[in-house]
Amino acid sequence: LSERLGSVFDRLTKAGALSEADVDAALREVRTALLEADVSLAVARDFIKAVKAKATGQAVTKSVTPGQQVVKIVHDELVHVLAGEGEPDALKIDNPPSAILMVGLQGSGKTTTTAKLAKRLKDKNGKKVLLASLDTNRPAAMEQLAILAGQVGVDSLPIVKGETAVQIAKRAKTQATLGGYDVVFLDTAGRLHIDEVLMDEVQAVRDIAQPRETLLVVDGLTGQDAVNVATEFDGKVGISGVVLTRMDGDGRGGAALSMRAVTGKPIRFVGLGEKMDALETFEAERVAGRILGMGDIVALVEKARETFEAEQAERMAKRFAKGLFNMNDMRSQLDQMLKMGGMQGLMGMLPGMGGMAKKAEEAGFNDKMLKHQIALINSMTKKERANPDLLAASRKKRIAAGAGLEVSELNKLLKQHKQMAEMMKKMGKGGMMKQAIKQMM
Ligand code: GDP
Ligand code: MG
Repeated sequence: LSERLGSVFDRLTKAGALSEADVDAALREVRTALLEADVSLAVARDFIKAVKAKATGQAVTKSVTPGQQVVKIVHDELVHVLAGEGEPDALKIDNPPSAILMVGLQGSGKTTTTAKLAKRLKDKNGKKVLLASLDTNRPAAMEQLAILAGQVGVDSLPIVKGETAVQIAKRAKTQATLGGYDVVFLDTAGRLHIDEVLMDEVQAVRDIAQPRETLLVVDGLTGQDAVNVATEFDGKVGISGVVLTRMDGDGRGGAALSMRAVTGKPIRFVGLGEKMDALETFEAERVAGRILGMGDIVALVEKARETFEAEQAERMAKRFAKGLFNMNDMRSQLDQMLKMGGMQGLMGMLPGMGGMAKKAEEAGFNDKMLKHQIALINSMTKKERANPDLLAASRKKRIAAGAGLEVSELNKLLKQHKQMAEMMKKMGKGGMMKQAIKQMM
């Protein structure tokens, strides 16, 4: 795939900004990558459309190709979608005994994940955990959970033959309350396909158990079907999150994006093997890299941007050190200040300048003034900006009028420019300026 990308990108011209053709060419390859990772067709299409709108017109970092730049944008958007609004990754177990309902297709890894989560809650959070199997379909399923419970050192509900899933759920809740458990896991019966009868059973269990979490366990190798499974379970039972298993295998995990995009429900954990500690919290960055399969390109673009910014900072710092700080420099500084949340934001970022923010504000150095100053600089000619010493009275009048402001404000700007140039010169001689410029980019 990387080779194919390379050849497409080589044909693209190195331009300053991403043209629609650049973006289209790169996104065709990205689309293939997503489908190869088993992202559902509809989700891949919508995702590509959203990225296209975002990418077109964006600046291209020096020393990367437009195609590479698009891949980076795609990657960032993928991380953004997968991560969502930063849902807490801790399970809600605040109301003991909190029930956690495990649902999903047969063989997806529900029973294994139940035991893994139990171990995690016990070892990491010091919780007292009870496991209950509601799988009345396969006789061996209950024993399987009991054995795993023993392995990870938590209790399991004694097995009583002939009970229904709802009866077991009730007994589990009672037992959890009486026994002073923090958490009770309800491991439901699997189904090969979405099946009305079993779905009704899960609904009934849910109504009895009032779970704090309902986790849908999905095999990470699941392809196009992931959307159906997630939609169906979320619609009928209501899920609070997804666990993606078998991510230790070859699958690229496109199911994560599909399910996230369609249900909006967060991926909470990732299963990475059959062992009881092979479970990790979901990390959008890692899974995004895997789905896209273009990690080397993403890293390359990041490196190029860092290098570029470092070079620019270096160049600016050098100029300032020589006392070369003209109105163009001042304007870009003022722009940056506004972008970074105005005076307060900026001063907060510079080391040791927190206290200065308040003084500056009191001296009338606020965001409104920043905007006025930018307007004044904008109405200067190129020559005037490069050399503010040119500004005689008549020029001053013209500039102030052009910005709709008074000459006295322009004079203030000029005075401040002098002070700033002086300060930049001093700072430029120390290492501090470079640091500050880098932070601002
Ligand atoms: P259930 O039918 O949903 O309860 O599925 P099980 O928990 O019984 O798991 C089915 C099989 O998948 C078992 O052999 C597990 O060991 C295996 N399994 C579960 N999770 C993972 C995982 O993250 N990685 C791998 N490689 N195997 C897993
Ligand atoms: Mg099971």
